[in-house]
Amino acid sequence: MQTNTHGMISLFLIFMAIAVALGAVVLKSPLFALIYLGICAICFLNIVFSYCAKCPCREKDCSHGFLGSLTKIMPKRKEGPYTFIDILSTLISIGAILMIPHLWLVYNIPSLILFWLLIIVAALEIIFLVCPDCANKNCYLCPGKSKSVKKFSA
Ligand code: SF4
Ligand code: SF4
Repeated sequence: MQTNTHGMISLFLIFMAIAVALGAVVLKSPLFALIYLGICAICFLNIVFSYCAKCPCREKDCSHGFLGSLTKIMPKRKEGPYTFIDILSTLISIGAILMIPHLWLVYNIPSLILFWLLIIVAALEIIFLVCPDCANKNCYLCPGKSKSVKKFSA
């Protein structure tokens, strides 16, 4: 069992960044803030389905604590290498969460700076303190493990 303290802290920082973005959006348009919140929820679940559902350590050894457990309430997927579609779907979801609020963040520079500060610290924490101990041998960020991408298969 790996310790997941850094995994939990990095997730918290990401949620804080989303909260900062939401704050900036809500000042301009409460309706779009609600839409952005919905997009974040859908993208978050899609990341768990596209990535975590195929992770070998999702049930007992998730590096981010509870993300792996969420796969229990989703349709089962077979563990194994990620496909091109899995990775693309994950990247699109991450991109949507990070980029959509910029339509409003560009008008709120302090929030924009805080948003990226939180995201960068979370990313550095994940890369340097979470990934090296993560047991997901299929993940491309796991150092020193063999990876292979099966193209366009389920
Ligand atoms: S270790 Fe990563 S891919 Fe595996 S379940 Fe946890 S968050 Fe998902
Ligand atoms: S190695 Fe991959 S699955 Fe594990 S914590 Fe890093 S990004 Fe997440």
